[in-house]
Amino acid sequence: MTEQPVPESRTYRHLKCGNETVVSDQPFELVSNPMSSMEETQCSTCNAMFPMSDFEWADTGESISDYYARHTKNATGRQRFLCSKKFMVGLLAMFSLMTTVGIYLLVANDALFTRAICVLGGLMIGAMIGMAVFVSCFANPIKRKVCGVSDTRLLT
Ligand SMILES: [Zn+2]
Repeated sequence: MTEQPVPESRTYRHLKCGNETVVSDQPFELVSNPMSSMEETQCSTCNAMFPMSDFEWADTGESISDYYARHTKNATGRQRFLCSKKFMVGLLAMFSLMTTVGIYLLVANDALFTRAICVLGGLMIGAMIGMAVFVSCFANPIKRKVCGVSDTRLLT
């Protein structure tokens, strides 16, 4: 399998106003990912968010919701769940809670201020760990498997 270079951007058209928006970098990664469960994206002319079905890729003329459906038709219910926002939120909450409890036990006898700072820090650190686990253990490997590419920006 030869490795194609990953495109830097792609253009989609907002059907209601007919204008095109170029996406690159992280927004491009998100919009190109059929497993990202994106519901809305930005039109740069209207300067607002609209449902994915209101947009089509400028190069293929395929609506973005059809593109999502086509590239995820082989995904199992379990794979969809493990990439969903619901699972992501649950994972973040679980890591936040575990980290906070762990840190709190270390400072349980300290002043209220110290404990408050440690609880806030624990929630933030836990959420960051949870996000990293979600992306590297679930979202990324599953989208690669379902879509059959190393990077969803390669999909057309
Ligand atoms: Zn528009």
